[in-house]
Amino acid sequence: MNIDFSISSALTPMRILLSNDDGYLAPGLVQLAESLADTGDITVVAPERNRSGASNSLTLDMPLHLRRAANGYMYVSGTPTDCVHLAVTGVLEHQPDMVVSGINLGANMGDDTIYSGTVAAATEGYLLGVPSIAISLASFEGRYFATAGRVARELVQRFRERPFAEPVLLNVNVPDVPYDELRGTRITRLGRRHKAEPAVKSISPRGETLYWIGAAGPAADAGEGTDFHAVEQGWVSITPLQIDLTHAGQMPGVRRWLDLEQ
Ligand code: MN
Repeated sequence: MNIDFSISSALTPMRILLSNDDGYLAPGLVQLAESLADTGDITVVAPERNRSGASNSLTLDMPLHLRRAANGYMYVSGTPTDCVHLAVTGVLEHQPDMVVSGINLGANMGDDTIYSGTVAAATEGYLLGVPSIAISLASFEGRYFATAGRVARELVQRFRERPFAEPVLLNVNVPDVPYDELRGTRITRLGRRHKAEPAVKSISPRGETLYWIGAAGPAADAGEGTDFHAVEQGWVSITPLQIDLTHAGQMPGVRRWLDLEQ
C-alpha cells in the first residue's frame, strides 16, 4: 500500500502559537490572528498588559495567572517570554509548529532586539525548538498592520510549503505602508543605534522624583545591508537571529590580556 505522506502532511493544519509584547488587546495581535486564521490552528497566549521592553525575562518570584478572554485569546500575568514558555511547557497539548510574535507597534531593529519583548517571545519559541518569527510594524502610527499581517501570512505559508532545514528565528520589520507600496524583501543584518536619549525626570504629586527611561537613539549604523536601511528604503527586512553572544573575535585578546597559555 502506498501512502503519500507529502499530501497527508500538507493537509495537516499547522499549529501556530501567537504572542506579543503589546498585550492581548493590542490591534497588531488581533490583525496577526486574523491574517493567519486560515493557515492553521491558532492559539493566542499573550501578556495581559503592555510589556514592551521586557526582553527575555521570566517571572520566577511569583506564580502566574492564565485566563481566557471572550474571544478565545489566553492572557498571562507575566512577560512575553513567560507566555510562550508556559504555553509550550504547560498549556498546549502539542508542541506548536511555529511561534509568531507581533505584530509589534514600532520597529525592532538593531539594538532594539536586545530589549524587545516581541523578539523575546519568538526567541523563547526558538529556544524550545520551534521555528519562530518576530514581526514588527516599523512606525508608531500603526496605520498598515494589514500589510504586516499579509507578510506574516506569506512567511507562514512559505514555511508550511517549504519547511526550513534548520531551526530558525526570523526578525521581520515591515514598513508602515500599503502592501502594494512595499518594494519587496531584503535579508539584512542588524544595524546599530546611537545611545538612548537621556532619562526624563519629573516630580510626582507627592514630591517624589520620578524617571522615565528615555527614547531609543536614532540609527547610527544604518548602512546598506542593515535592517534600518532596508526599511527606510521601503523593503521588508528579515534578519535571521542567533542566540550565541560569544564575541569570538575577542577571545584571543582576552586570553593575552590575562597572560593565559591557551
Ligand atoms: Mn511592543
